[in-house]
Amino acid sequence: MSATLTTQLRNAVDGTIETDVALSRYTTWKVGGRADWLITPRTIDGLEKALTMLRATGVPWLVVGGGSNLLVKDGGFRGAVITMHRLRTIDIRSDGQVQVEAGATLAQVIKKGIKAGWGGLESLAGIPGTIGGATVMNAGADGMELGRVIREVQLYNGEDRQRWSHDQCGFSYRSSAFQRDSVVTVVTLALTVGEPAQLETRYKERLAARRETHPYGLPNAGSVFKNPPGKVAWRMIDAVGLRGARRGDAQISPRHTNFIVNLGGARAADILALIEFTRKRVAAEFDVELETEVKIVGEDG
Ligand SMILES: Cc1cc2nc3c(=O)[nH]c(=O)nc-3n(C[C@H](O)[C@H](O)[C@H](O)COP(=O)(O)OP(=O)(O)OC[C@H]3O[C@@H](n4cnc5c(N)ncnc54)[C@H](O)[C@@H]3O)c2cc1C
Repeated sequence: MSATLTTQLRNAVDGTIETDVALSRYTTWKVGGRADWLITPRTIDGLEKALTMLRATGVPWLVVGGGSNLLVKDGGFRGAVITMHRLRTIDIRSDGQVQVEAGATLAQVIKKGIKAGWGGLESLAGIPGTIGGATVMNAGADGMELGRVIREVQLYNGEDRQRWSHDQCGFSYRSSAFQRDSVVTVVTLALTVGEPAQLETRYKERLAARRETHPYGLPNAGSVFKNPPGKVAWRMIDAVGLRGARRGDAQISPRHTNFIVNLGGARAADILALIEFTRKRVAAEFDVELETEVKIVGEDG
């Protein structure tokens, strides 16, 4: 880690620059080793300056939104982690187009839209994380995916600013065409007009339905595996008898078998071991390769 770069970043970037930071504080699983730098820009300009400097010096970066779909390994990340939570301006226009900075949470966008009489995102109620993360992941629930209402995405890769239209984004099931080195800075959504009280009711219904089926109270990252075409991951995991299975303090949730919960002292290695074990058991029984929905990053501990 270069002290010179730390000083340069601190002098140039509007935001905070920390060094040697535990990433377990930034993931909903509460696991993960340390990052060399943690950069928290206060403005898009600050974000772009940081990325320009990192690119020019060849330092790798990793963007973290809400960290709700991320498994950071125990050895942490050699390079700079960029957190987006201070970039959260939401601008709702009179035609229902909403321009959102990537660090705003999905919940903030949905609730602000409902208040102003704009809906369409109620099905996504209760999905944690940021608009940036939800865009890259094409987050979805209940037959709806965020990508459907995205009109434009602004990106910066340390050299070029780009604007991608909906069709360029390549949205598919929990996936998009965005590459690791492109940071989503601003997303434009097109919402549909609705009556606030009705939208609010639907939003609350979706939240309540989620509370019935999801394990709350223990750190997790939502569904670990994607559903293979025509199949349901949690059913196959259940069928091979892994409900409640443990590796250290990582456990396949007894409440929802596509969730792995951290009982308190889990390490990323425990979660990874449980993921691999599950994949092997499901492959042996069903001849199906489960693919992780969660993104696995960083170095082994
Ligand atoms: C309890 C629980 C329930 C969940 N339910 C659902 C659900 O119903 N449906 C669903 O789809 N998901 C669900 N998830 C998973 C997760 O919340 C979503 O994938 C969410 O959209 C991720 O957003 P995030 O900001 O936390 O992304 P992160 O986890 O921070 O990042 C995810 C990926 O996106 C990248 N990324 C994040 N922000 C940016 C950016 N600005 N620019 C470029 N890359 C970026 C990261 O580098 C990483 O590769 C759930 C998670 C939990 C914990």
